[in-house]
Amino acid sequence: MSALSQAEIQKFKKQLRDRGTDLREAIHASLLNSDNKTYSEVAGRVLDIGEQSVVDLLADFHIIELEKEAAEFADVEAALARIAAGTFGQCAGCKADIAIERLRIYPTAKRCTECQTRHERMAKDMTPSL
Ligand SMILES: [Zn+2]
Repeated sequence: MSALSQAEIQKFKKQLRDRGTDLREAIHASLLNSDNKTYSEVAGRVLDIGEQSVVDLLADFHIIELEKEAAEFADVEAALARIAAGTFGQCAGCKADIAIERLRIYPTAKRCTECQTRHERMAKDMTPSL
């Protein structure tokens, strides 16, 4: 059970939805302004298709220039899915409640600060050194 009130969750939901819309429009504009003909064609589809598929669409066309935007879009979608599932604000690592101050700054946070730090340290250790 999340410690967040319904009103707080609704606020995060709106914030995330708005961010998703902004990102979608930013992705659309970047594609449209590209000299690449394929990108311009893909741009037309970005605004009509379902939420999750924007990320798939960019991946399908190997549009790596927008990888950062696509990754953030995927994070926003995942956070909205957690709201729908009732697990928003719960740490994916220790299952404790993520501090609301952290969520206000970073509403797509999957982990509490401690677990995130541990996770990043682990990911770094696992990077193969060639
Ligand atoms: Zn945690």
